[in-house]
Amino acid sequence: MNVILFGPPGVGKGTQGGRLAEAFGLQQVATGDLLRSEVKAGSALGREAKSYMDAGGLVPDAVVVGMIESRLGAGSGLLLDGFPRNVAQAEALASMLASHNERLDRVIFMDADHDQLVQRLSGRRICRDCGRGYHVAFQPPKVEGVCDQCGGALYQRDDDSEQVITRRLAVYEQQTAPLIAYYQEQPAFRRVDGGASLEAVYDALCRAMEE
Ligand code: AMP
Repeated sequence: MNVILFGPPGVGKGTQGGRLAEAFGLQQVATGDLLRSEVKAGSALGREAKSYMDAGGLVPDAVVVGMIESRLGAGSGLLLDGFPRNVAQAEALASMLASHNERLDRVIFMDADHDQLVQRLSGRRICRDCGRGYHVAFQPPKVEGVCDQCGGALYQRDDDSEQVITRRLAVYEQQTAPLIAYYQEQPAFRRVDGGASLEAVYDALCRAMEE
């Protein structure tokens, strides 16, 4: 099974995608996470990507398409989180899948309203060691700044600052939202309300996968 999870920043793709991938035996491929690891490692790719990420823009298509290509055809189904991010990437994905005789089984679009997205992104904190996500108001750790799971220090992503959040949401509207029209006539397309509670969204996603 190959699945796309797409929607605006802050809608919960990463959090929900991790749970779904585990429940359905898929490999979660989150281009944002892969790019952040490259930045952290200081690789040439990471150095190229960093300026785009810091500004809230998209990293060039060739870079991210290459990251996906190297993961296709490995035998396990993929849950793509954060890719494709524009129509050119969607077209590249379609031809890569076709060349591996694979297809998209689900394209799930998650949405939530603008104010909710800003609130979620601006309060988001992440564990430096295990990557677990928190929110200062909605899902705080037991001890401020410390991960409940592993005791690691929590940090705020550089691009979760107010100014970059505004830019990321604008880039989403301009470049990623056109994917709704691109995919919505396909039988694999499903829409899920990402504005509900964590559990309600997860249940709706499971239904969208199983239908
Ligand atoms: P995310 O973790 O999905 O919010 O992604 C963080 C940042 O990584 C984005 O703001 C982009 O700069 C970059 N990025 C992630 N996925 C893609 C993609 N498919 N195409 C271009 N840039 C991406």
